[in-house]
Amino acid sequence: MEVSLGHKRKQQEFSLVSVSHLSPSSSSTSPSPPVVACFSADSLELRFQQDFDSSDVIKFDLQAAQVFKLGPVQSVCISEGSEAAKEKSYSRGIAIEFNNEEQSKAFHCAFEQWKKEAFVQGAQLSNGTVSTSKSKFDDKIEASSAKMYFHYYGQLLHQQNMLQDYVRTGTYFAAVIENRTDFTGRVVVDVGAGSGILSLFAAQAGAKHVYAVEASEMAEYARKLIAGNPSLGKRITVVKGKVEEVELPEKADILISEPMGTLLVNERMLESYVIARDRFLIPDGKMFPGNGRIHMAPFSDEYLFIEIANKALFWQQQSYYGVDLTPLYGSAFQGYFSQPVVDAFDPRLLVAPSISHTIDFTKIKEEELYEIEIPLKFISLVGARVHGLACWFDVLFNGSTVQRWLTTAPGAPTTHWYQLRCVLLQPLYVMAGQEITGQLRLVAHNAQSYTIHLTMGVKMWGPGAEQGEVLQSSSCKLDLKEPYYRMSQPQAYTVAPDQQQHPLIHAQDIHIQGQDADEPDVELQ
Ligand code: SAH
Repeated sequence: MEVSLGHKRKQQEFSLVSVSHLSPSSSSTSPSPPVVACFSADSLELRFQQDFDSSDVIKFDLQAAQVFKLGPVQSVCISEGSEAAKEKSYSRGIAIEFNNEEQSKAFHCAFEQWKKEAFVQGAQLSNGTVSTSKSKFDDKIEASSAKMYFHYYGQLLHQQNMLQDYVRTGTYFAAVIENRTDFTGRVVVDVGAGSGILSLFAAQAGAKHVYAVEASEMAEYARKLIAGNPSLGKRITVVKGKVEEVELPEKADILISEPMGTLLVNERMLESYVIARDRFLIPDGKMFPGNGRIHMAPFSDEYLFIEIANKALFWQQQSYYGVDLTPLYGSAFQGYFSQPVVDAFDPRLLVAPSISHTIDFTKIKEEELYEIEIPLKFISLVGARVHGLACWFDVLFNGSTVQRWLTTAPGAPTTHWYQLRCVLLQPLYVMAGQEITGQLRLVAHNAQSYTIHLTMGVKMWGPGAEQGEVLQSSSCKLDLKEPYYRMSQPQAYTVAPDQQQHPLIHAQDIHIQGQDADEPDVELQ
């Protein structure tokens, strides 16, 4: 039954069969007689009482309470104990019995709605900034991941690492300064401002006002840096909070941001950039950058393959302090191949021209970034053993004066993103001119990253090829959150003078004597 007072619902009631306390000594105390459950908007509570006037009331804070179904008409309502000072208070709960299944469903549905409302109401901040403590960000990202993420970006050393990537920071600076007409006299929002560097660039380019939104503790350092540059700082306001949650006093003419992670999408910050677009940008406003491309090409790298396979050799020991480790060999082997490799590789390792997948930041819907499917189709330039897919990205600053790309391509000046390679457990043998097909599927997960599903196959060659059957196929699943950072490893590639005129072709330079990774019969000529 719903009691509606005025146009906004103030409370809602359900008549129940019984409730009983859950006590630690027995599973529950004896059930109480018929009872009323009442959600209240004023006190943000869920109350259980025998009738309206009864003084015997069990109260639950809607923000802290949770309900679970035990059966079709039985549920429990639990409130977690809070950590006060040094003592931990205990959780408490009650068992609920409903009249029928419909009522149980209606109660659970109402509970979810009331809980959401309680969060929104509970989060009105005094300084006029309204924050919903449960936002789109909180809904899809695990709290522990977000905590670590913002802790990381809250430290100056990590901001310094990005600032010292001169390819990155220099390209942003050039893109802003060369396109001052896009900034002069305009309102700018810096999405994920970090140290505030891009806000300061925008102010240098003549922005009327810049809102620097930063969720981590770095916001305090940004305030300090901006205050120390007063001629620019007077046109910058630092807003501490998530772009999904903060409110700004005016709309922006242009957004500036550096939301790119490894493989462009890692960290899932592109979604925040798109949410910021929908929340703060005027229609047809500019975005710096406005689009990005993921580039992909098959590669052949016998050294890398053997290096990864060899990592698991440790688990081949049959007497490690008298213990046989081999039962875990298979799992360890698979584990190493589930790590995408991050390093700067020689572009001559690529066996085919790359293809690309464009993401238009000005148009894409946030949900479209949850799952990205990219069909793969390459024509191999050489005969080689293909060990997987190499990926990199670039982004475009589509300025009114100058277009500028920031690229992380192999062979281009190295950035702190390097490149990414997904290594197949089972390499593929290809001939020059042969087609390599497959799919790269990226599925977002709640730890601010993606699961990578890669399938690559090689079609029939020679007589019967027109039937188009896939002869060899190889698949793997990798976690973009757990890469193998290989940058510090020595690079084994030597460049012979006669190889230099073929930027893509390298594999014919690798003479493969063995047929299997277990036989490391590879030599560089
Ligand atoms: N713009 C800075 C920092 C880029 S790193 C520069 O170019 O140097 C990305 C920054 O965005 C980090 O500081 C991170 O804390 C912040 N960030 C990520 N997601 C955010 C979100 N949803 N809301 C606000 N800030 C966010």
